[in-house]
Amino acid sequence: MVLFDLILKGGRVIDPKNNLNSILDVGVVKGKIAEISDELDVRSASKVVDVSGKIVFPGVIDTHVHIGRLGHRMLAKAGVVTALDMAAPSDEILLNLKNHGAGLNIAFVTNIRHFYPKAESSLTDEEIEKAVSMACEKGAIGIKITGGHRPFTPKTTARIIEECNRQGCYIAFHVGTTETGSDLNGLIEAVDLAGSNGLHIAHVNSYCRGLTDDPVEEALTALKKLSGKRNIASESYLARINGTGGLCVNNIPVSGVTRNCLKMGGYPQTFDGLKKAILDGYAKVRLEAGGEVILVSGEEGLKYWLEAGTNIGLSFPVNDPEAQIILATAKDSDGNFIVDAISTDGGGIPRNVQVEKGMLLVKFGALSLSELAVKLSLNPSRMLGLEDKGHLGIGADADITVVDPVTCKPFLSIARGEIIMINGIVVGRGGVILTTEKGEPYIKGANIPYEVLDLSKTKIYSRG
Ligand SMILES: [Zn+2]
Repeated sequence: MVLFDLILKGGRVIDPKNNLNSILDVGVVKGKIAEISDELDVRSASKVVDVSGKIVFPGVIDTHVHIGRLGHRMLAKAGVVTALDMAAPSDEILLNLKNHGAGLNIAFVTNIRHFYPKAESSLTDEEIEKAVSMACEKGAIGIKITGGHRPFTPKTTARIIEECNRQGCYIAFHVGTTETGSDLNGLIEAVDLAGSNGLHIAHVNSYCRGLTDDPVEEALTALKKLSGKRNIASESYLARINGTGGLCVNNIPVSGVTRNCLKMGGYPQTFDGLKKAILDGYAKVRLEAGGEVILVSGEEGLKYWLEAGTNIGLSFPVNDPEAQIILATAKDSDGNFIVDAISTDGGGIPRNVQVEKGMLLVKFGALSLSELAVKLSLNPSRMLGLEDKGHLGIGADADITVVDPVTCKPFLSIARGEIIMINGIVVGRGGVILTTEKGEPYIKGANIPYEVLDLSKTKIYSRG
């Protein structure tokens, strides 16, 4: 008789890869899925959790987060088991995982600007090659370009994408160059700059905020541009608020995204305009409080923004819900989702709503439970080349997210067979870094558990 470490009893198991959609028991041994059947003997398990009435999904993989210190707990609470951080440098990621980890699997790409903080809008080939190598040697799976916030020239942008492809590392792009911006024109340019190179285009919804056309028209144009591009991976999120920075230099917000938000709200794109937007409650300041990140505005928000010398995270209610629903649900003529995944762009930004809002799309009839599992887990696993995740096949990693269909909230987050969150209480600690062979010595040296990925299996390189 098999001795299970854990049995999840009586939940509706949804696993699109293995065509499962029925009431089943899930048995876990040594961090792997060992057996799934109608009836597992509870006497054969050291731990049993009754999940009757609940939905058992393959563990949620969030392909766009900014985890910071508190994002670990916030993500585990939101049902996330694996996440890709989009921009932080290695030492910050490793320190936060050690001190604030909640048991998640974390991969990360590093913003290329971390290596050249003073650079204007171009980098030499040598600088690009060096930054890409350095990022990977410190454990990142690749590079992030944050063109929408602080753009490079199209030439430098294309060279960064090319160099990442040459070195076989991951490359993610918040679109925008000196010729475009964080909008639909930036998205169209990004697909063209990639050419036949692999590229992950971040948060597609954020380029459909009505800056060039009606948001719904923008979403439809974006889908047309992305459709059939096997070298491109993409995600979009479902929160109303965005995430950007408040830093002002010479009385002007440094981030192009922040300037766009002010324009959309009818405010001057200046220090004074931003000050008024915070006082009015249109711009919200992100603060750490009670072990989580919260949003404040008005006089209180203004106080924290000024105390931080304006260099603090901000969020604006700028995402268009109609465009977001279109991007979350649209399929091509082969029946594949055009935007691969639903992400959050959250973590430490309080908008980890993908499970809750995804379930609402199911209730609305816009997605089936199986389709939601594709968007939250199976497609993200393919984006990152994680063959043992994204499904619940025998021998797969026992990464599981259990959701209450009545409240739409996550009930359990399970990473490698260990419960890291139960009913809103985060109990996980530490975590595992997903790195590459190049980054292995550094992560090993930092004494942090890790797994080595084969990036040739990622969607952008396998063209799967
Ligand atoms: Zn982001």
